[in-house]
Amino acid sequence: MLNMLRMISQEVNAAKDLPAALTIIVKQVRVAMNSHVCSVYLYEPDRDRYLLMATEGLNKRAVGKVSMASNEGLVGLVGSRAETITLEDAMSHPRFLYFAETGEERYASFLGTPIIHHRQVLGVLVVQQKERRQFDEGDEAFLVTMSAQLSGVIAHAEATGSIRGLGKQGKGIQEARFIGVPGAPGAALGTAVVVLPVADLDVVPDKAISNIAEQLELFTLALESVRADIRSLSARLSDQLRPQERALFDVYLMMLEHTALAGDVIAVIRSGQWAQGALRNVVSEHVQRFEHMDDDYLRERASDVKDLGRRLLSYLQQAQQQTLVYPDNTILVSEELSPAMLGEVPADKLVGLVSVLGSRNSHVAILARAMGIPTVVAAVDLPYTRLDGIELIIDGYHGDVFTNPSALLRQQYAEVVEEERLINKDLDSLRSLPCVTLDGYHLPLWVNTGLLADVKRAQQRGAEGVGLYRSEVAFMGSSRFPSESEQVLMYREQLEAFHPLPVTMRTLDIGGDKPLSYFPIKESNPYLGWRGIRITLDHPEIFLVQVRAMIKASAGLNNLHILLPMISGVHELDDAQHLIHRAWGELINEGVDVQMPQIGVMIEVPSAVYQAKELARMADFLSVGSNDLTQYLLAVDRNNARVAALYDYLHPAVLMALKEVVSAAHAEGKPVSICGEMAGDPVAAVLLLAMGFDSLSMNSTHLPKVKWLLRKMTLEHAQELLEEVSAMDNPQLIHSTLNLALGNLGLSKVLNPASSVQT
Ligand code: PEP
Ligand code: MG
Repeated sequence: MLNMLRMISQEVNAAKDLPAALTIIVKQVRVAMNSHVCSVYLYEPDRDRYLLMATEGLNKRAVGKVSMASNEGLVGLVGSRAETITLEDAMSHPRFLYFAETGEERYASFLGTPIIHHRQVLGVLVVQQKERRQFDEGDEAFLVTMSAQLSGVIAHAEATGSIRGLGKQGKGIQEARFIGVPGAPGAALGTAVVVLPVADLDVVPDKAISNIAEQLELFTLALESVRADIRSLSARLSDQLRPQERALFDVYLMMLEHTALAGDVIAVIRSGQWAQGALRNVVSEHVQRFEHMDDDYLRERASDVKDLGRRLLSYLQQAQQQTLVYPDNTILVSEELSPAMLGEVPADKLVGLVSVLGSRNSHVAILARAMGIPTVVAAVDLPYTRLDGIELIIDGYHGDVFTNPSALLRQQYAEVVEEERLINKDLDSLRSLPCVTLDGYHLPLWVNTGLLADVKRAQQRGAEGVGLYRSEVAFMGSSRFPSESEQVLMYREQLEAFHPLPVTMRTLDIGGDKPLSYFPIKESNPYLGWRGIRITLDHPEIFLVQVRAMIKASAGLNNLHILLPMISGVHELDDAQHLIHRAWGELINEGVDVQMPQIGVMIEVPSAVYQAKELARMADFLSVGSNDLTQYLLAVDRNNARVAALYDYLHPAVLMALKEVVSAAHAEGKPVSICGEMAGDPVAAVLLLAMGFDSLSMNSTHLPKVKWLLRKMTLEHAQELLEEVSAMDNPQLIHSTLNLALGNLGLSKVLNPASSVQT
């Protein structure tokens, strides 16, 4: 059965459109189940009817004509109850309905199962038998499995049809929504420019050659051209990225060395294969090896190798590099966006990015956040190859992509974009003002940084300090662990830029979705594996170099706070503190005149919530990592679009945990901050203010909005709201209560850009 299912799914997946896919389904299922009829009915929500879309066995002329309301017939019953119905004697059922147009001889037996995708009934799959047949459990199981497998395909095909403006009846559902993961905040309306692979390595044939020198020469020229392209892309981004960050491009260049990819290709050419074939061999071998290992780091490298392979091939084929025309308001779409693709678009044309693969912490998402470009990643169901030239809306707050948006949706998002523009225009006036509530309570707003571009933006937005410097970002852009003196320079730059304001530097937080190319970790469950402090405590040589560099860099400035990620118990804090004291002692002995920095703990693992008091007693401060804390408390992968709707930091359990942490810290007389995305959501910020957080640290893009809102609130009112929502057990109710309350104050529009949009 498995084989049969697989075969049908493959055929359906390869179908050119929805009708073709449905035709394959009914044909194959009828054969597989040895039944007389197999039909598919699709649900039309606007008419509340099930329309016959394909059949094998009934009169084909009835297709597109015969339909039944959800309260009619057996099909309507299956759909409205959303469950399988098996009837040996269908005609005796009170809901049996006979349609003469179908040419339906009165079929005795009926087996119908709903086609459900993301909890929505898309249609009904039916098999019928002339003579009485007792469909058994095996038949039922087959049809249910078939329908579950096909639901995704049907949903995808429907959406794809709608993108083309065809829709399932040829006239068109005008819009479709695809769910991804927020990569960088902001909303954008624009035109999709799809970056397809420049050349298709997979179809290059083998060819034996006699003139090896000629092929070697061709390959050398291609290599030089690609190297030059990469260098110029890197140069184009030079005013936005500092040298260490541009090391991303050095990784590419290194792969082109004769000791790596290029050397292998040359060896194959020498064996008598033409350059294109040699390139295909070598690239596919590398890619396959990486991809099969199913590891974040290796997958990342596999895509780099593929990208390089395509670039080389396009020169070998003497094809022009894909010349894309970038209209105003370009939204760049690709299966896997790379920083290089981003660099190719003129900055004044680019308004958004969409990547089908990738995660919040992909290189391109990190860059996009630093540059303030709204981005959606992991939009896995997006039929991206068909989007070129199509109007798109992207919502980088929620991770949504809308194709062919309706006029209403366009208008709503245009308002969001305009509101953002207005707020940003007011930045200058807000910049020098502190974040003080109407009743005079001062809540410092800090920023999260990682790249050089973050520093510039943070300064423009008047941050009062850095609550989280993600040190791993610089490590990710390097091709080996940076040395102590290289790290001193990086850290000094940050510490100086904000001095005398505090800069909270987090020690290396790799693992999970943050791979280091030169320190591969292969794990089946990386978020529960070797991450953050667990790695650095196991590698004190790496940890000591890093904290030495941080402390050394703070000499004469003394504005350094050190933050420890992924602490799950007091023993880890104890060990880390020990090492930090040791590093500081060494530096003092070496004659460096520097203060011992404050040491803080990230509260992002549930166990740390329960030990917050003990941790606060031992540390100088706490900082909540609400991104991971939400993921671990709710058991929802923060990078999985399929469960994105469950990822909610306003879940009552998360709010309860936050309150616990604040009171634990304060009971020990220690300050507590929060540095996850939640702190940058103005609605959530109101609750965080009320909970008593001593500072909020966020992406600098969000800072003006949070400041604007909190300056228009009283602490007292925020506390009332917190009390009100604390009594609620339903996250949706919490969202709507907060939105309503802030709306009543006339604050809703500016505060939560895309949440007011009705989709
Ligand atoms: C967090 O988990 O909330 C956090 C700030 O850290 P990161 O997003 O880098 O894991
Ligand atoms: Mg974290």
